[in-house]
Amino acid sequence: MISCYNQNIFINASDKKLIISILKKTKNKLKKVDRVRLMDFSELFRSLSSREKVLVKKFLNVNFRKHGIRIPYFGIQKVPKNLIAIRSQKYVYKIKEIETQYLPRRVYQAYKKLNSALYKELGKRLLILSGYRSPAYQMIVFFQYLNYCNFNFSKAVKRIFLPGYSEHGYVKKQAIDFTTTEGISTIDKSFDFSKTDEYRWLLKNAYKFGFYLSYPRNNKFGVIFEPWHWQFRDNRLKDYLKTVN
Ligand SMILES: [Zn+2]
Repeated sequence: MISCYNQNIFINASDKKLIISILKKTKNKLKKVDRVRLMDFSELFRSLSSREKVLVKKFLNVNFRKHGIRIPYFGIQKVPKNLIAIRSQKYVYKIKEIETQYLPRRVYQAYKKLNSALYKELGKRLLILSGYRSPAYQMIVFFQYLNYCNFNFSKAVKRIFLPGYSEHGYVKKQAIDFTTTEGISTIDKSFDFSKTDEYRWLLKNAYKFGFYLSYPRNNKFGVIFEPWHWQFRDNRLKDYLKTVN
């Protein structure tokens, strides 16, 4: 049972120290480096001690299935070349821009088509809150969340996937986390993306552009409902384009 795996069992005090140290070491990179989402493991390991590397490897070997999460393992994929950088995405009310995101070109193009259709029908647009994340970057995101939820491993695994399991790092099923231009996000709990017009529109129309909701309510994967997280699948898009051209 998932509930058996609390922080005391899986993550001990020395693990915690190492995770905090890894987060400290990568903090500046996360703030300053535009390309941090493309970081590979050799780059991450360069700044880590041998004990920290061992800890990262321990997490890379965690079997999600043992923790009640029934999602496929895609494996640690190489960071692809030629991803498109998406800069200067702006919210309507917030001054802060979304940090640079990356997507494979075909996914970015499909997103642009989806967005123009959405704009035509609703006068609204969606922003990309999170696109491609390299497996090494995913590891850092996982550690950040683990730290945020007080090292409660069973909580963290349901919310943030470990490298090799995330569709954000698997370009064949590249995921995008959408947000509205008002800034309704995955993090801000006072807003609910599933209650937006944009989400309702996606439910009806996203498939036409090759996007599919990965984790609906009460999904079979044991993952929380993620209304913002949509995976892109090429083949359907090709079929659809055939029918409209
Ligand atoms: Zn996501």
